[in-house]
Amino acid sequence: MRGTTRVYGILGDPVAHSLSPAMQNAAFTAAKIDAVYVPFPVAAESLGTTIDGLFAAGVAGLNVTVPHKEAAARYAVALHPRARACGAANTLIRTADGFAGDNTDGAGLLAALAERSFAPRGRHVLLIGAGGSARSVAHAFARAGVASLTVANRTPARAEELIMSLRYRRVLATDLAALREAETLEQLDLIVNCTSTALGGGALPTIRFAVTKPRLLCCDLMYGKPSRFLAQAKAAGRTTIDGSGMLLHQGALAFTLWTGKRAPLAVMRQALTSAIRRATARR
Ligand code: NDP
Repeated sequence: MRGTTRVYGILGDPVAHSLSPAMQNAAFTAAKIDAVYVPFPVAAESLGTTIDGLFAAGVAGLNVTVPHKEAAARYAVALHPRARACGAANTLIRTADGFAGDNTDGAGLLAALAERSFAPRGRHVLLIGAGGSARSVAHAFARAGVASLTVANRTPARAEELIMSLRYRRVLATDLAALREAETLEQLDLIVNCTSTALGGGALPTIRFAVTKPRLLCCDLMYGKPSRFLAQAKAAGRTTIDGSGMLLHQGALAFTLWTGKRAPLAVMRQALTSAIRRATARR
């Protein structure tokens, strides 16, 4: 590091587990950018003062993770329309007046799906969950023009609230009973598990994969360990994808927003894969 080294980072609580430093530092090195990316553990009550202080100290850009994405959107001096739509920011970009907020989570998932040749336009999609990640993903699917979007959540009122925010005609909010209903399942092209069930604390009802299309794609936002949802989908012969591709692409999009340069994707993927392997071995 030199006096000219620019500082980037990630705000979260906790944040020590984040794999973004490994991925972004590898990207800066590969792109020959004199910059460093560090984790900043920040309690909710200190978020505003931390963002102000990091701006005053000249920090060039930030990622934001759980539980601060909604609050970060409120502290941003301006919001990209996709961050405004879902009410959350995962990326803060330095401007003359302060940090502007964007949200690359949904676009990151779409990029990961595109790598599997899945284009959402005209497709039937089921999202399980209605939390922060489901919100950014749902808005991205609506923008991409899905034929239908069903949001199934343990607390149906949250699913209802989410679909109201979409202002999209082809949406339906429901509870987890939908995961067993042939009428819902048989039309689907994609199921995305946006719940935190893979982290423990409960399980989803078993999905009746037998009634789904053989070409159904099943995606879990969780990465690093196989979820029960993906294990069951795989056992039923359905194609599966975990959340590592979304993590990679949301980070690559943030890198481009900060630097104006194309992200060195292969290097970032390699760094992320190694970091996931190390994190899994430690568990
Ligand atoms: P939130 O806490 O905002 O939302 C959690 C969701 O899970 C809610 O819909 C909640 O339902 C549901 N849920 C929790 N426990 C259960 C249960 N026992 N049964 C059924 N539903 C349950 O979490 P996030 O949206 O921020 O994160 C969700 C997952 O996505 C995490 O695993 C996270 O690691 C992952 N993620 C991955 C990213 C990536 O880049 N790959 C990016 C962001 C998140 P209810 O409303 O009823 O409480």
